[in-house]
Amino acid sequence: MPPRNPDFDVAFDPLELQTNDDHVNAGGIAPVVTEATHEQKRPPRRIVWRNVVLFTLLHAYSLWGIICIPWAHPLTWLFTIFLYTASAIGVTAGAHRLWAHRSYKAKLPMRIILTMMNSMALQNDIIEWARDHRVHHKYSETDADPHNARRGFFFSHIGWLLVRKHPDVKDKGKNIDLSDLYADPVLRFQRKYYVPSVLLMCFLIPTLVPHFLWGESLWYAFLIPGLLRLCATLNATWMVNSVAHMKGDKPYNKFINPVENIFVIFGAVGEGFHNYHHTFPHDYSTSEFGWKFNLTTFFIDCFAKMGLATDRRKMPYNLVFRRALKTGDGSHHGVQKHLQETEANEEKTLESEKPKDE
Ligand SMILES: [Zn+2]
Ligand SMILES: [Zn+2]
Repeated sequence: MPPRNPDFDVAFDPLELQTNDDHVNAGGIAPVVTEATHEQKRPPRRIVWRNVVLFTLLHAYSLWGIICIPWAHPLTWLFTIFLYTASAIGVTAGAHRLWAHRSYKAKLPMRIILTMMNSMALQNDIIEWARDHRVHHKYSETDADPHNARRGFFFSHIGWLLVRKHPDVKDKGKNIDLSDLYADPVLRFQRKYYVPSVLLMCFLIPTLVPHFLWGESLWYAFLIPGLLRLCATLNATWMVNSVAHMKGDKPYNKFINPVENIFVIFGAVGEGFHNYHHTFPHDYSTSEFGWKFNLTTFFIDCFAKMGLATDRRKMPYNLVFRRALKTGDGSHHGVQKHLQETEANEEKTLESEKPKDE
């Protein structure tokens, strides 16, 4: 039997840490092995030149796309924003919250829509994405984490896609149970026809719709809703792995690297509440604030209203608060209020206990 994956199908005790990281535990014990030791033990970097060339070209053409924006049709601008949002949600509501974490259930029409939106984002098929993500949560900030943030900003942002995977990522990845993903025919279909689905959703539709519906030039349509939009979605997702593992508050768990970062919250349609998410990975909203800065939660809730999304798992506020009080860095709004009230009450008590001078 494969080892149980803490990201799903396991009794959820919110007051215990969710990480299985060998080096980080509930006591907040610092890594015994330093980063320098890890660096020495790492096999030499093997660069994947094909990806280096492709990502360089993508960024260069995206820059060209930015320059062309003023000459494009205004409907092309709106269409680009629409496709950016759709492809981002294909990753956040689909690959991430539904399939990697099983934080809610979705009926067939919703799963098909999410899969189409996901192919538009060109971030590997959902089974592969979810496997990498389950490994990321289970072995966060170790060499088995595909985008280990301890290796620096560049590596966790895009560098991990430009080199061969660390052997630990492959070894630990093999032990991740993916049977629930392979059991879904929609995911098997996407995996089998991934290349044609990407050609259609990520390149043909973004290029042909503006050309035929409002007469946009094929080149501008390819550059702006096609390449520039793709590049922006990729960078927004990568920011969750890089920035949201580095700079920000840790209201729920100060013993882990992931943080709450406002820039990522905006860019990644609600995925920047990353300290919350790594502390409560089963919460379908990845935040305690509902729709606030969280388009993905709004999207899932709309589908829930239509009866297509069910069994949304949510952490009750009292448990979130208790956890923040126990392991947070003190920046949690409820904890701050609680501490202020406690302080005021103590002052009042001291005041009333003082002997009154006649
Ligand atoms: Zn996650
Ligand atoms: Zn993370």
